[in-house]
Amino acid sequence: MKLDATDLRYVTSDEFRVLTAVEMGSKNHEIVPTVLIVKISGLRNGGVNKILGSLAKRNLVSRIQNAKYDGYRLTYGGYDYLAMRAMSKRDTVCSIGNQIGVGKESDIYIVADKDGNELVLKLHRLGRISFRAIKAKRDYMGKRKSASWMYMSRLAAEKEYAFMKVLYEHNFPVPRPVDQARHCILMEFIDAYPLRQIADVPSPGALYSKLMDMIVRFARAGLIHGDFNEFNILIRRASGEPVVIDFPQMVSTSHQNAEWYFNRDVECIRRFFRRRFRYESNIYPRFRAAKSEKGDDGSEEWHLDLVVCASGYDKGEHKVLEEYMDNMLREKADAGSDEEEAEGSGEGDEDDDDEEGEDEEEYSEDEDEDENVLDRVERRGKDSHDEEAG
Ligand code: ADP
Ligand code: MG
Repeated sequence: MKLDATDLRYVTSDEFRVLTAVEMGSKNHEIVPTVLIVKISGLRNGGVNKILGSLAKRNLVSRIQNAKYDGYRLTYGGYDYLAMRAMSKRDTVCSIGNQIGVGKESDIYIVADKDGNELVLKLHRLGRISFRAIKAKRDYMGKRKSASWMYMSRLAAEKEYAFMKVLYEHNFPVPRPVDQARHCILMEFIDAYPLRQIADVPSPGALYSKLMDMIVRFARAGLIHGDFNEFNILIRRASGEPVVIDFPQMVSTSHQNAEWYFNRDVECIRRFFRRRFRYESNIYPRFRAAKSEKGDDGSEEWHLDLVVCASGYDKGEHKVLEEYMDNMLREKADAGSDEEEAEGSGEGDEDDDDEEGEDEEEYSEDEDEDENVLDRVERRGKDSHDEEAG
């Protein structure tokens, strides 16, 4: 998805108000009724309709006509806009440059702050791909009205930022975190190549030990990266030093599947070194030993898992994200399995526990809408344009 930076400057304050109203309405409504948008925005009816038309033209919202009522939905474009606006207000992002990465579930851009320093903007795009496990477990999306992919993307960004911050503060080799808003995080640009792209290193053994030491250091501090592989390890161009990125799936060493995650991280590195550098060693860390090992840096006293939890990421709503990540990683681990399709389990659990509570009960959606939340949000990522009404 393209990020349109020029648009940032051409949104009036009333348009912003209406866009924000759509976002607020989305908390309780899959499709936000136009009347509710009018009410929340506090602007006049006619004005709001006109503004909605213009926002829809720019793909910041999309109009949904075939529902029981007339309404709108925030698009990822609109969500991007709101996040960018928040960052540009704080002067952390002033201009947007090239896209440097399209991950499975993220877009990565080079941006610049007000002094022209290059930074990396990561926009989370959960739901862009559909994993089998997620489809099978449709209950987490189905049950919660508030859980859309955008919402999950925000949780992922919040979690990633919280971890990056704590790691950075404790001198782990990770990018310096700069800002976070909605589903986006902003961080230091690392002039590096992903390990994946590196054909040769001066000393594979030395790099191998460094990476294994890092896994151990994480564990001593109560953490497991969970996706520690050649894509998420960057090798600095100048020094050859490794930098680790990509944290939304990190878990605590007291997680029930901690040992499995730990072993998988270790195995990823072993396998990669075997295949790429023909390097193999019998020396590799074991979970129990690593967890209780004492380091020279006192890291065993940190309990960074608890530090991050204390910052609130681990509460209630984040459980949904954790389950999602857990399923996703397990599925990835099912070697050879080529995601996509395999729908399977069509038992559609549609128990509908309302978590409303706020305004406007009269618009509340019924269960057959709920049942399809997952399908719809998946579609939204792919063809949000199609839904736009004329
Ligand atoms: P995903 O969750 O989609 O895997 P990542 O955080 O791993 O996203 O980033 C995807 C790619 O973007 C990385 O493999 C790397 O090439 C690039 N990238 C991400 N963050 C940075 C950064 N701070 N500096 C330089 N490149 C980065
Ligand atoms: Mg990655």
